[in-house]
Amino acid sequence: MAKKEFKSESKRLLDLMINSIYTNKDIFLRELISNASDALDKLSYRSLTDKKVKIKKNSLKINLSFDKDARTITISDNGCGMTKEELEDNLGTIAKSGSLAFKENMTKQEKIDIIGQFGVGFYSAFMVADKITVTSKSIDSEEAYTWESTGADGYTIKKSQKATSGTDIVLNIKTDTEEFEYSKYLDEYELKSLIKKYSDYISFPIEMEVTHHELKDEKKHEYEDHKELETINSMVPIWKKNKKDVKDEDYENFYMDKFNDYDKPIKIISSSVEGMISYKLLLFIPSHTPYDYYNKDYEKGLSLYTSGVMIMEKCSELLPDYFSFVKGVVDSEDLSLNISREILQESHNLKLIAKNIESKIRKELENMLKDDRETYESFFKTFGVQLKYGIYNNYGQDKEKLQNLIMFYSSKKQKLITLKEYVDNMAKEQDIIYYAVGSSIEKINSLPQVEQVKDKDYDILYLTDYVDEFAITAIQEYDKHKFANVESENLDLESDEEKKTTKKANEDNSEMLKAMATEIKDVSEVRFSNKLKSHPVCLTSQGDVSIEMQKVFDAMPNDLGIKAQTILEINEKHPIAEKLKKLYKKDKDEFLKYTKILYSEAKMIAGLPIDNPTEISQLICEVISK
Ligand code: ADP
Repeated sequence: MAKKEFKSESKRLLDLMINSIYTNKDIFLRELISNASDALDKLSYRSLTDKKVKIKKNSLKINLSFDKDARTITISDNGCGMTKEELEDNLGTIAKSGSLAFKENMTKQEKIDIIGQFGVGFYSAFMVADKITVTSKSIDSEEAYTWESTGADGYTIKKSQKATSGTDIVLNIKTDTEEFEYSKYLDEYELKSLIKKYSDYISFPIEMEVTHHELKDEKKHEYEDHKELETINSMVPIWKKNKKDVKDEDYENFYMDKFNDYDKPIKIISSSVEGMISYKLLLFIPSHTPYDYYNKDYEKGLSLYTSGVMIMEKCSELLPDYFSFVKGVVDSEDLSLNISREILQESHNLKLIAKNIESKIRKELENMLKDDRETYESFFKTFGVQLKYGIYNNYGQDKEKLQNLIMFYSSKKQKLITLKEYVDNMAKEQDIIYYAVGSSIEKINSLPQVEQVKDKDYDILYLTDYVDEFAITAIQEYDKHKFANVESENLDLESDEEKKTTKKANEDNSEMLKAMATEIKDVSEVRFSNKLKSHPVCLTSQGDVSIEMQKVFDAMPNDLGIKAQTILEINEKHPIAEKLKKLYKKDKDEFLKYTKILYSEAKMIAGLPIDNPTEISQLICEVISK
């Protein structure tokens, strides 16, 4: 029979998997058991919704056996099984979701990261097996099929025989090498402890024949072995266990297994709520963004169980968008088993649980911020953007909930601080919370407008994410203090004396400044200002749209044409001011060239593109060649 090739990326991934030094080969068993458990879940769910599908009480099981001589391990389940097409689709492709960053000469860590990213599940069995045979019969089909593969070179599918629906997976265990003793998996004790370690919580029985030594003759000290089918796992889902009886490590293993992560979570939240509505909750905050987080088909949600049956893998109603990175399980007896999605969405109890979950996560984050700053900062660097979006979305309706969880870089403290910390450290006479926007701390540091505020010894929040200023704008006021962008025109930091001088300079030269504004067109005004220390010019904005916001709008695919209203400010104390005045009197032509150059400079400093770079560079050359 013709061998079918794996899809090309799958093939590379499989190559990596088999040949790379993935440290923990043990996990193959928990991956296969967890697939079997999913298949049993699917079947029990079907039996609730589809009258044609009937299952006997307590009949759903996973069975594990091994044959030392034949060097095989067999994992069987009587779950939903797979049709021929499903075998092809599910086992013929590994990397279901898109592009993998394959590179030449990857380091060991990079290889492991790639494998980890995809939670290669079923394929991890190739770490220990040189041949895998999957025989499956779907509940939706009368026929059984066998899928077989010896690794990266492809697989075959053929018709076969199987009495009942479900799946049998046979692994041919590799021969031992100098580096690794694969035979260790052909051992009762080893398999038993792997099940205990990784799959104890699985809610279906995992059965295995276990050998018992029984005393046959006490006097002669003679024993007899006999085998008995036993359930190895305790079957109590980990979230139903008493918190005291579960080690962090157990929670972590459960998380990595169930949610396909190769790293431990940064935070484990478990709680048991009794009351009007009772439920158990086990939540995890990942330590890094899930690999598919920014894919358009990433689905937020928690696994929802009721009365021991998983009724929804990802119930999105249980999480607000700003906590979409949270993973976990909710188990409640108080949800009706009438589980059509629409009815569930309307369920009052579900909404109540969702509300409690939101506030539970928030409280936990607030505590983390208070008690474990380092972990919080690491969390915030990964998922802070989500919280800031949460503030800005829905017209700021959630801002009160989230504003104490966000942080910005402080110019004074040179680290992340909260809004509360900013306000607590404000100078007595200071009323406004100052912020500056740019793509990096270095870039903001070099903004001319930053100087003036720093000179006053006021702290400035540096907003470096494109969503930041939108979030700040949505907050509007924090603890009765308004926010001001240092790039906005009316910061009002000058002394009365300074204001007077500037006013006079502007009045005396109003005609010249108007001429400049007319030449530039794009600005609403050109004026002398006192704001600048060493720089000759800067661009400030007037009104609700800042220059940085304009950049965000400009970058959007559907250009809404939203522009900042800008003002070109010229440093009155800079020699360029005198030069302009002189040229305006003597040489209008030259004066207009200077105007254009200065405006382009201001745009450049503000990080805005120059419309006509060729013309400007010619002008500069002309002027400096004189
Ligand atoms: P994942 O479990 O993360 O989806 P796997 O590579 O482990 O990825 O499995 C791929 C798919 O193959 C599963 O999603 C499931 O649809 C199917 N599958 C694997 N094992 C079984 C099984 N024992 N019974 C039914 N379907 C299975």
